[in-house]
Amino acid sequence: AKLTIGFIGLGNMGGPMAANLVNAGHTVRVFDLNKAAVSELEAKGAMAASDAAECAIGVDIFISMLPASKHVKSLYLGETGLINLLDSKTLVIDCSTIDAESARQVGIELAQKGIDFVDAPVSGGVAGATAGTLTFIVGGEHRHFEKAKLALVDMGKNIFHAGDIGAGQVAKICNNMLLSILMAGTSEALQMGINNGLDPKVLSDIMTASSGRNWTLELYNPCPGVMETAPASNDYKPGFMVDLMAKDLGLAMEAAQQSNSSTPMGSMAKNLYTMLQHQGAGSDDFSAIFKLFSK
Ligand code: NAD
Repeated sequence: AKLTIGFIGLGNMGGPMAANLVNAGHTVRVFDLNKAAVSELEAKGAMAASDAAECAIGVDIFISMLPASKHVKSLYLGETGLINLLDSKTLVIDCSTIDAESARQVGIELAQKGIDFVDAPVSGGVAGATAGTLTFIVGGEHRHFEKAKLALVDMGKNIFHAGDIGAGQVAKICNNMLLSILMAGTSEALQMGINNGLDPKVLSDIMTASSGRNWTLELYNPCPGVMETAPASNDYKPGFMVDLMAKDLGLAMEAAQQSNSSTPMGSMAKNLYTMLQHQGAGSDDFSAIFKLFSK
């Protein structure tokens, strides 16, 4: 069935995700603080809303794709929050990567007003968002998960139900901690090869067919020139920003502390990404960690 969907946050991920909902035939109302992003979606067939309220009132499904917890909490909660405007028939899906505790808080407060909520962070990057092949990791009640799928299937390929509200965020943070470790490790291995006279393209082919194979090597090579379509070959234009990866690693370290988990590799990656931010690379793609190793 075709739905009326509200979508807020048309950035690197949200823009192509909303475009896929339009292409699937849904009526999509869009809003972003960045007017250019709204116009771009309007040109693709979405309806431009002039503010968050106009985007959200009366829709079947409302989706947010914002940078961090503070943006999500201020969108939904408090006196000026959408919590006071959303219809009780609307299912809210937050696809942003935020801490599980904030997701639970938003979910509980919305539930008190009779509004259904799931957290549904994504994996797959801008390429996955554009191709409609994202992985969604959903936390919430089973019947809400089933309803969320009506929209998520048009943006993604793998849709998992991880558990109750917040569980999507926990799984996502585990994944991104591992991703950051793989990106750092792949970078240092490639640079060591280069420093010892190897062609990084040849070395990448070898490791992709060997036991060092991983997602960053195969689909998101951090060494400029190895992979035409990777951010590394486009001046590290994001993609997925260093600032956002640093945020996710902060969430991972909080989760580790709360659960008394030992995460030495994750804490090393957190420190490397913080260092990269201090060098002014916060808005670069997260594969720019390669620059910490290159000469
Ligand atoms: P982005 O910064 O490109 O986009 C965020 C958008 O939200 C911007 O267009 C901004 O103008 C808008 N925005 C912020 N506050 C707003 C508000 N109050 N009202 C309306 N619009 C508002 O970020 P992104 O890369 O699209 O990432 C979004 C989320 O997805 C983050 O939580 C990130 O961690 C996660 N994520 C990103 C990737 C990736 O590869 N980029 C992959 C998986 C998950």
